[in-house]
Amino acid sequence: MLQIGKEKYRAKQIFRWLHLQKATDFDQMTDISAQTRDILKEKFCINSLKIQKRLVSAADNTVKYLYVLPDGNKVETVLMEYRHGNSICLSTQVGCKMGCKFCASTKAGFVRDLTPSEILLQIYETERDSGRSVDSIVLMGIGEPLDNFGSVTKFLSLISDKNGRNMSLRHVSLSTCGLVDKINELAELDLGLTLSVSLHAPTDEKRSEIMPINRKYGVADLIKACKDYFDRTGRRISFEFALIKGVNDDPQTAKELITLLKPLGVCHVNLIPVNEIREGDYRKSSSVSAFQQLLTRSGINATVRRTLGADIEAACGQLRRDNI
Ligand code: SAH
Repeated sequence: MLQIGKEKYRAKQIFRWLHLQKATDFDQMTDISAQTRDILKEKFCINSLKIQKRLVSAADNTVKYLYVLPDGNKVETVLMEYRHGNSICLSTQVGCKMGCKFCASTKAGFVRDLTPSEILLQIYETERDSGRSVDSIVLMGIGEPLDNFGSVTKFLSLISDKNGRNMSLRHVSLSTCGLVDKINELAELDLGLTLSVSLHAPTDEKRSEIMPINRKYGVADLIKACKDYFDRTGRRISFEFALIKGVNDDPQTAKELITLLKPLGVCHVNLIPVNEIREGDYRKSSSVSAFQQLLTRSGINATVRRTLGADIEAACGQLRRDNI
């Protein structure tokens, strides 16, 4: 505002219009003079997302949006209803580079990172369209959030800004396939969010087979980064483990997982019966509760993730960057 010769306090006013009133046009900012609004229109733009498709699950009220970004690329966003409120699953990239074998989001390759506003607008547009307000956020949609570190941390500072939405980052979970150097960087920021780590296998041999990133950052380095994260932030890590029939759902794998996680002390394992995707031949495990019992009996906290929106391909690993 100073640069365009206006009072500094106007910046706060505009920020509130954008983040509290979710203004889509400078002309909605009625406490800003028409002359200033004209300058703003000339120098800046307010981005928006367009809804290309909205699918509502008949089973559980989950809503999946296919959003068109300002440049025509597309991403998916999912709104879920829990007893404790509404949770939104956000995409952070158009496509994904990580190549996890079981995940649909990576199948059509990577196009580009999302900007902070494109991550944020998934919330604002979804709230506007659904009439529901978002209580918690999971960064678990398309893309690897830590591979777009700058935009994701900027987004987190916008959503938690006291002059705007003022959301506590305790209501945010960020899921990563395990970019060790970025986990270390995130630990330094100590933001108070929950870190979820997509583990899916306890040994290098098995993990590298289904998650190529493991060839760069192996299991031992990943677990060390998780331990350091906990020591630095005091926040327990949540490990995601998608159970795939005949791949990682046997008692021997459970035993290896226990041996791996036991020394960490506090952690939580979220078991996900793998969601089937068109491109893969991985099938849901039929021994989810047996696997869970092995973990809990040895003192590891393990829950089974409820699958929401499976009938509209809105479940974990089923999101895509196009309407295909
Ligand atoms: N790139 C991040 C976030 C996106 S995926 C990450 O890898 O964590 C969100 C979660 O869904 C991850 O735990 C991911 O491993 C899991 N997931 C991917 N495909 C899945 C599938 N087919 N079934 C169940 N979970 C899946």
